[in-house]
Amino acid sequence: MTIVIAIDGPSGSGKSSVSRAVARRLGLAYLDTGAMYRAATWWCRHENVDFADEDAVAHAVATMPLEMGVDPDVPVVRVGGEDVGAAIRTTEISTAVSAVATNLAVRDELRRLQRAAIDAEKLEGFSGGRGIVAEGRDITTVVAPDADVRVLLTASEEARLARRARELHGSDGAGAVEATRDQIVRRDADDSTVSQFHVAADGVATVDSSDLDFDQTVDAVLAVVAQ
Ligand code: C5P
Repeated sequence: MTIVIAIDGPSGSGKSSVSRAVARRLGLAYLDTGAMYRAATWWCRHENVDFADEDAVAHAVATMPLEMGVDPDVPVVRVGGEDVGAAIRTTEISTAVSAVATNLAVRDELRRLQRAAIDAEKLEGFSGGRGIVAEGRDITTVVAPDADVRVLLTASEEARLARRARELHGSDGAGAVEATRDQIVRRDADDSTVSQFHVAADGVATVDSSDLDFDQTVDAVLAVVAQ
């Protein structure tokens, strides 16, 4: 039996690591759609595309030689054969990504690729037809509204900032949290037109990870899957 699990949430909700762990536990493929928007941003920069030129951005993304790995143990992202896994996580890309993600032609193109990746896992793909965990901002609502399981992973702003500060600065002390605040709060605001992640859509289960550690959050999502 095939299962498609859609997980949405804001940055710092733990969505990527939790989704990977859920995929691993259930023997499913894993699709990080945020990495696709990041790769698109990296590619536009690589091709010297002016971010303000919407048509040029759309054209660049439509011709981007992207390969998305869906193995939850090694979710490799390649563009033109180059492993861009680290390059797409820099502050420069994080700051620029919302501009590319709000381009409607870019969203159409990447959503098409995302649905194709999900469909491939229903047939055979990496998972041998077992299915996929796809995570992002609009998976439960637009990309896969018919997914078998749909989860909105939330966390309070303070919990999200503390987590990101640990990831970025190796500390959740006051200085590190403040250094992270600008970046996260601004990106949430920039993203607010592409995702309504503070309220779960109809039929979407909410898991609030504010007071849960990593394993507890994974268990909470697995409990929703088991329902
Ligand atoms: O999840 P991550 O922080 O890597 O996502 C990077 C960016 O990609 C988000 O800030 C958002 O602008 C965009 N995104 C999106 N739709 C998705 C996933 C990510 O617009 N499904």
